Amino acid sequence: MLDRLSDFPWVIVRVGCALCPHRSGQYRLARLAEKFGAEAELDEVIDRIAFDCPWRPKPGGRDRGKYHPRCKARFIDVGGPVPPDMPPPMRVLKVIDGGKS
Ligand SMILES: [Zn+2]
Repeated sequence: MLDRLSDFPWVIVRVGCALCPHRSGQYRLARLAEKFGAEAELDEVIDRIAFDCPWRPKPGGRDRGKYHPRCKARFIDVGGPVPPDMPPPMRVLKVIDGGKS
């Protein structure tokens, strides 16, 4: 179970929301850890990333009602049915024989 950024197994953190697709994006794990702290809880991180989504329930705000759509911003790779894309492997630089003597 993933709870914290430090548990996150992938280098690229992908975020998606069905209601605000323009807010979806990719973040480097190292960047998020720097900004929020490596021990930040994932729930909190997603809250901070999507905080300005118009469909996000505001803390302390009035509940707009059961049938109002809610922001569903989430980490795409966590808990999904599809295995995560692995980051591209480091390209091995081949030493090209330039015929130096
Ligand atoms: Zn949203």
